[in-house]
Amino acid sequence: MKAVLDHVGIAVKDLGAALAFYRDALGLEIEAPEEVASQHVRAHFVPVGESKLELLEATSPDSAIAKYVEKKGPGLHHITLRVEDIDAAVAQIQARGARMIDERPRPGAEGSRIAFVHPSSAHGVLIELKQGPARPRVDAVARFALGDLELISLCDGFIGLDGGSMFGTIPKPLWDRQSPPDSRNRITLAMRPLLIRGARTMIIDAGLGDKENAKFQDIYGVDRKRNLEHALAEAGVSVDEIDIVLASHLHFDHAGGFTIRDASGRLRPRFPRAQYIIRRGEWDDATHPHERNRASYLLDNYVPLGEAGVLQLVDEDATIMPGVKVRRTGGHTMHHQMVLIESAGKRAAFVADMMPTRAHLPEAWIMGYDLYPMDTLAAKKAFVPEAIAHETLVFFEHDPAVAAGYIREVDGKRRIEPAPSRS
Ligand SMILES: [Zn+2]
Ligand SMILES: [Zn+2]
Repeated sequence: MKAVLDHVGIAVKDLGAALAFYRDALGLEIEAPEEVASQHVRAHFVPVGESKLELLEATSPDSAIAKYVEKKGPGLHHITLRVEDIDAAVAQIQARGARMIDERPRPGAEGSRIAFVHPSSAHGVLIELKQGPARPRVDAVARFALGDLELISLCDGFIGLDGGSMFGTIPKPLWDRQSPPDSRNRITLAMRPLLIRGARTMIIDAGLGDKENAKFQDIYGVDRKRNLEHALAEAGVSVDEIDIVLASHLHFDHAGGFTIRDASGRLRPRFPRAQYIIRRGEWDDATHPHERNRASYLLDNYVPLGEAGVLQLVDEDATIMPGVKVRRTGGHTMHHQMVLIESAGKRAAFVADMMPTRAHLPEAWIMGYDLYPMDTLAAKKAFVPEAIAHETLVFFEHDPAVAAGYIREVDGKRRIEPAPSRS
């Protein structure tokens, strides 16, 4: 099993004296205390690099910490190891004949799951195993009405990308709370194509698809147990109904679902009746990758479209169907485009990798993957005030928890208000 040191718990008798040492003498920063009422404990976390110290203060004589301090005096109380799969960890420990205090994991703070190992098996140390909060529950299908159009966000599952790469020049301490990385520094990203029902039925992007091998899936932490197929079924849409497939760009997490391998091993378009609309510059770049973008452009995802004669290349910003037009943003790739949707005076935007998650709202929060980050900056600076002014419903293709929201600005501070979907 893989484990990381999450924190070290220290039982404290006199909090003031403890702070005099840990805060004043050592000069460490103490976070605001957390009250754990059920345990009669107040926890003061002290960040130390990737891990933390946890000063534990009893709030009642009944508290286990109070009893511990009475019996043994203040000092080291427990060590918490964070594991990826706590059920597997407990099973492995038990299979080796070690003793658990908790035979089965139980709920811990903030949606985590925990289980204590008995100190008699851990050479006198109380060890807590912890599995971070479960993946946020995401609706595979989120429906929105926009004038005469129906917009349906569909989820093709999740992928894990390096947190540092996702936030470019932004230091980890600024992003790791809202986007907690796993033990391989990956953060969870959803892949959410958007279905539009109007004059025609269109899907924008199609997620990763299922052509990638086990090694790829391991590197990118692919979780497609619930994928586009399920989402389409849940939305009541068959692949035959799709008239148009529109690409924001051709990276594998957007275009992977454009093609499938049939029983004979041949690659063919996933949406048999659809025209695939791709920006010509993006097509040219994707079919002639260079050293810097080669890992993102996988030819099997789109070359078969040309061979099948379903490809339509578009040269400039254009209306794709009534109410739906594309606008080049550049930045992420030279010809990356967003999709602007308008019906009956209401607006929506599918911004793709210009602003992949809600966390990317601040102007400088730009992905390290972007080939032309200054162009991303310019595109965001142009788009965000426009979205605020027009109450644009913004779709976040990679946000792990929220499919769409409105950008609000109050007293110069911007935030995103998640949009309720109608199910
Ligand atoms: Zn991309
Ligand atoms: Zn992407």
